[in-house]
Amino acid sequence: MVEKRKAMIAGGGIGGLTAALKLHEAGVSVQVFESVREIKALGVGINVQPHAIKILSELGLADELKQIGVETADLSYYNKFGKLIWQEPRGMNAGYRYPQYSIHRGELQMLLLNAVKERLGEDSIKTGHQLISFQRHSDIVEAHFEDKKTGEKLGSYTADMLIAADGIHSTIRKFYYPNEGEPIFSNRILWRGITEGEPFLTGKSMVMAGHQNQKFVAYPISPQAEKTGHSVINWIAELWVDGDAPSKADWNKKIDKSKFAPDFASWDFGWLNVPQLIDEAEAVFEFPMVDRDPLPQWTFGRVTLLGDAAHPMYPIGSNGASQAIIDAEELGLAVQKEASLDAALQAYESARLTPTANIVKSNRKNGPDSVMQIVEERAPNGFNALHDVISQQELEDIANQYKKITGFDRAR
Ligand SMILES: Cc1cc2nc3c(=O)[nH]c(=O)nc-3n(C[C@H](O)[C@H](O)[C@H](O)COP(=O)(O)OP(=O)(O)OC[C@H]3O[C@@H](n4cnc5c(N)ncnc54)[C@H](O)[C@@H]3O)c2cc1C
Repeated sequence: MVEKRKAMIAGGGIGGLTAALKLHEAGVSVQVFESVREIKALGVGINVQPHAIKILSELGLADELKQIGVETADLSYYNKFGKLIWQEPRGMNAGYRYPQYSIHRGELQMLLLNAVKERLGEDSIKTGHQLISFQRHSDIVEAHFEDKKTGEKLGSYTADMLIAADGIHSTIRKFYYPNEGEPIFSNRILWRGITEGEPFLTGKSMVMAGHQNQKFVAYPISPQAEKTGHSVINWIAELWVDGDAPSKADWNKKIDKSKFAPDFASWDFGWLNVPQLIDEAEAVFEFPMVDRDPLPQWTFGRVTLLGDAAHPMYPIGSNGASQAIIDAEELGLAVQKEASLDAALQAYESARLTPTANIVKSNRKNGPDSVMQIVEERAPNGFNALHDVISQQELEDIANQYKKITGFDRAR
């Protein structure tokens, strides 16, 4: 009997857990190592695009996703005075076969975690195991773990391949690129919060207002609240700042609202009351908007990078989680298709490195949000007729171009 191939995955986030499901489907025996002792539903809202929802649906998770995600109906861009610039239908509303979901990141992670435990067994995830180092021996990888809190050594494990899904501060990436340093700061800070309130626009709308130096994003994330006529609104306030990043890129850093709320005090648009949303949020999390330069190589023999470890990008155009899910799909396909694991990990890199590098670069130029910046530059005091400022053709070209770059133009 041929022995089953074994994979170790460092990181039990969205990318690592999806990769575990896809590799399991490809007949690989998988062990996930996660540094936190208990995986909790952390984070706030994210959007997951139809091409990633297709992958999760094909994994049999469509019904569970429907329970926790709001099907995003439309996306609109406004100027800083709350006047409409561009609106487009999203997900199934736009003719895709799968929805786009606005979803709580932590709830999505818990959904994936439960699926991994059910299908691969409870023992397939070792929490409290931080990967600290590893060695490659011809076609075996040996990894060493310790408890992040106490520093206690937790032993070593071996497998035929090691997948680095250990996020933006990846230890494995650092091993191959030791001089890279901290993520690159964009001089913009994101403050993220969740507020219960009345539904705005369609009750399933995603909106962005402002421009590249001051922006507000909002969308509802609770289908349960929706049923009762309410909304749990995820929002992100963003400001340009001078100098260095005020804090390390830590998704769980709580801060005081007074740091940014005054800048948004006049942003009551009638259809959306920004100061009220900020005021009524229980907690606000600060995250410097950062990314890293695209890499020339992710695969080193039997070790490869995936998700934020491979291509951290600005959270523009709602792509972080979606691209990690697509990585996982490509990895699973490559392992199924290629005769050897070496060839599979190379094929995975060939399929994913350039497309994700293009998204990182496009997001640096604001991706589809650039329509707001163009309008701000041409009409800083507002406008009466939008098409005096920007033509319909220009608006359409920007929206379509980004969908092609990120791989979710409808034809594909
Ligand atoms: C706690 C948390 C909250 C987040 N909140 C948001 C949010 O509100 N909005 C948003 O847009 N994005 C958020 N993100 C990022 C978002 O999840 C990712 O950009 C995207 O989903 C890609 O996922 P990933 O699996 O590559 O990385 P991540 O989701 O970041 O997962 C990486 C995982 O690896 C683990 N890990 C790190 N180092 C090691 C190691 N050495 N050994 C073992 N495990 C390790 C981490 O604990 C984490 O669980 C958050 C990430 C985290 C970890």
